[in-house]
Amino acid sequence: MPANSRAQAIQEIRAREVRIVPGMSSPYRVAERYGENTFGLDAMRDKLPSSAFKKLQRTVKRGEKLDRAIADAVAHAMKEWALEKGATHFCHWFQPQTGLTAEKHDAFLSFDDQGKAIERFSGGQLIQSEPDASSFPSGGMRSTFEARGYTAWDASSPVFIMEGPNGKTLCIPSVFISYHGHALDLKTPLLRSMETLNKSACRMIELLGRSCERVVPTLGAEQEYFLIDQAFYTLRPDLIAAGRTLLGAKPAKGQQLEDHYFGSIKARILAYMQECERELFKLGVPVKTRHNEVAPAQYETAPIFEEANIAADHNQLVMETLRSVARRHHLALLLHEKPFAGVNGSGKHNNWSMSDDQGTNLLDPGKTPSQNLQFLVFLLATLKGVHRRAGLLRAAIAVSGNDHRLGANEAPPAIISAFLGEQLTGILNAIEKGKGLEEGGEERLIELGLGKLPEVSRDYTDRNRTSPFAFTGNKFEFRAVPSSAVISWPVSVLNSAVAEALDEMHAAIQKRVAKKVSVTKAAMEVVREAILETKPVRFEGNNYDPAWVKEAAKRGLPNLRKAPEALAELVKDDAPKFFAKAGVMTEGEVEARYHVNLERYIKDIQIEADALHNLVRTSVLPAATSHQRTLSKSITEAQAALGAPKAINGPTQNKTLQPQVDDLKACAEAIGDLHAKLAALGKAQEAAEGIGDLPKQARAYADEVLPAMGELRSVCDRLEETVDDALWPLPKYREMLFLI
Ligand code: ADP
Ligand code: MG
Repeated sequence: MPANSRAQAIQEIRAREVRIVPGMSSPYRVAERYGENTFGLDAMRDKLPSSAFKKLQRTVKRGEKLDRAIADAVAHAMKEWALEKGATHFCHWFQPQTGLTAEKHDAFLSFDDQGKAIERFSGGQLIQSEPDASSFPSGGMRSTFEARGYTAWDASSPVFIMEGPNGKTLCIPSVFISYHGHALDLKTPLLRSMETLNKSACRMIELLGRSCERVVPTLGAEQEYFLIDQAFYTLRPDLIAAGRTLLGAKPAKGQQLEDHYFGSIKARILAYMQECERELFKLGVPVKTRHNEVAPAQYETAPIFEEANIAADHNQLVMETLRSVARRHHLALLLHEKPFAGVNGSGKHNNWSMSDDQGTNLLDPGKTPSQNLQFLVFLLATLKGVHRRAGLLRAAIAVSGNDHRLGANEAPPAIISAFLGEQLTGILNAIEKGKGLEEGGEERLIELGLGKLPEVSRDYTDRNRTSPFAFTGNKFEFRAVPSSAVISWPVSVLNSAVAEALDEMHAAIQKRVAKKVSVTKAAMEVVREAILETKPVRFEGNNYDPAWVKEAAKRGLPNLRKAPEALAELVKDDAPKFFAKAGVMTEGEVEARYHVNLERYIKDIQIEADALHNLVRTSVLPAATSHQRTLSKSITEAQAALGAPKAINGPTQNKTLQPQVDDLKACAEAIGDLHAKLAALGKAQEAAEGIGDLPKQARAYADEVLPAMGELRSVCDRLEETVDDALWPLPKYREMLFLI
C-alpha cells in the first residue's frame, strides 16, 4: 500500500499507457478532411441558392453585416448542414472579458402549428441572440447603460461544429455588445481596430500610387503550454485554483541541461498532440508545427498565419482543444504564464504583419524601388506606433501571470522595445544620413540592400530572442504576449497604434506634396523623420542585461514592471482619446475595461493568497509537524537506548545525537516561521481587502500581498527539502515536470 496519495499517484502514472485512438493510424489526408466541421465555401455552395451564396460570400469576405433578406436562407442551409453532421443544438460563441470563450446552447427543437416537434433555426437566431449580460464582467458599463447584452454573428469567421462527448453543437462565432452598442467582449474592439487599420493603410497605399481595396492585419500565434499528469494535478489545489504552483522546491534537475528544447517528443505526448491536431484540422485551424519547448514538460504549437480576427478565434479553439483533449490522455493542460518557479514560463508569440487585397505582405521588403518605399513606410509606421503607444501595448499584455515572466531571464522584459537586425538598422542609419533622399533617390534603396533583405535577415533576426517586439524578416513578432491571453486585445492595440502612425505620416507626406514635392521624395523625408523619432524604441542589444534598464530609462521608455501600473496606462494622458479616435472603444468603454482588468488582477491574487493559506495550513503544516514528531520521538528513544536523557531541553549529553537535535530544532524553527509568515500574509491580505480605491487596492496586492506570499513560500520550500519524503503530500516539481 503506498504511503500517501502522492505515492499512489506515482504508481498510477507508472501504469499509464499511451492512448491509441481507434482508426487514427489509418491513412489520413489532411487536405481532404481539413475544415470538415466548418460551414465553409464548399458547404455554402452546396446548400445555398447561388444568389444567396454570392451575397453571403461578400458578407464573409468583407466582414459586413448579413443582409436580412438572405438570413433565413443562410440559417436554413446551415441548419441542414449541421443536422447532417449530427448537431442537435446551436450556440453563439463569443469572447467576454473573462479570458475564456462563452457559449449558451439552444436546441434546434421547435413545434409546428399542429404541435409536432420539428427542427428550426431562423435567420434571426443566426444573426443575434440575447444572453443575460449581467453575469459577465462589464466594468460598470451595465449600471451606466443597460443590463441587456446581445451576441451577433461575426460573419467573417466561419461557423463550426463542436463535438461533445455525447452530441454536437453548431457554434456561431459572435461579438458581444450591450443594448446601446457598447463592446462587452474582446472581439468587437479587434474588428473595429482592423477596420481602422484598413482605412489608414489603404489611404497610405493610394497616396504612394497604388490602388488598394482592403488591408488586413495577419497573425500567427505560437502557443506555449505545459502538460503534467492529471493524477498530480488533482493533488495540487494551487494548480486547480490558481493555475500555478504557489510552492514547490526546485528540483535537482531543472532545465539546466537544455535537453528538452526540440528534443524527441515522448510517445504519450505525441499521441496527445496528434489527437489535438486532428480535432483542429476538422475545425479548419491550420496548426502546423509542434515541438518541445525549453522547460521540462513545456511544449509549443504554431499555426499558419491568417487574418487577425480568424487567427484570434482559432487561437481560442487551439486553447480549448488542447484542454479538452488533455483529459482524454489523463493529462492536465497548464496555460498559465508561470506554472513553475525556476523554469521558463509560457508566452504566446504574436507574429503580426499586414496584407493587402493582392496578398502582398506590406512588411515584406520587396524587390523593386516602389515596393521598398512602401515597405519602409509601413515599417516605420509600425515602429512609430510601438514607440508612441508602448505603454498601452504593455497594458494590453498585463495579467497577473505575465508579471512572473516579463523581466525574468527567459522572457522579454516589461520594457517595450523593437529589434530590427543589423542589416535593416544599417539601412535606416544610411537613410538617416541622407541616402535615398534626393529626387528619384529611392532607386538607390536597392543598392542599400533592401531588395535582398528577407533571406539574409531571417537568419539573422532570429538570434535575438530577448526582444519583446522583433522584426523577423517580413513580420514582427510580439513576444511579450501571455500564453493564456485572448489575443484579440493586444492585437487591437497594435492595429490602432499603427493606424495612428500611418495617419500621421500620411498627413506629413501630403503637406509636402502640397508644396510640390514629389510623393516619393516626400515619403522618404517622412520616413527619415520617423527613423529619427523612433531611435529610442529601437534596441539591438541584450534585453536581459541589467544595463538595458538604465539605458531605457535614459531613452524615456516606460518600464512598467507590474500589471497594476501597466493597466493604469489605459486611462493615462490621451489614451482614452486615442482609443476613441481609432473607433476601437469609446472613452467610457476604455474606463470600463480598465476596471475589469484591475478587478481581474485583484481577484487573481486573492485566490492565490487564499489557496496558499489553505495549502500551508492543511498540507505543509501537518507534514512538518509529523516530521517534527518523528524526529523528536526518535531522539527520545535513541537517548533512552544510549543512556543520555533530557536532551531536548538542555544540551545533549551524548554528542553523537547533536546533529539530530539540530535537525529537530531547525524543523521546529521552520514551523515557527510558517506561523509567523502565515500571520504576516493574513495581515497583508486584510489590509489590501480594506482598501476601497481599486487602483490602490491592486497596488497593495502587488506590493504587499504577493511579496508576503513569496516569503511564506520560501519557508515551505525549505521544509520540503528536509521533511521526510513519505510524509510530503504534494507532488513535487521533480515529479510533476518529469514523470509522464
Ligand atoms: P520564425 O521561425 O521566425 O518564428 P516561422 O516561419 O516559424 O518564423 O513563423 C512563425 C509564425 O509566424 C507562424 O505562425 C507563421 O505562420 C507566422 N507568420 C509568417 N508570416 C507571417 C505574416 N506575414 N504575418 C503574420 N504571421 C506570419
Ligand atoms: Mg517564432
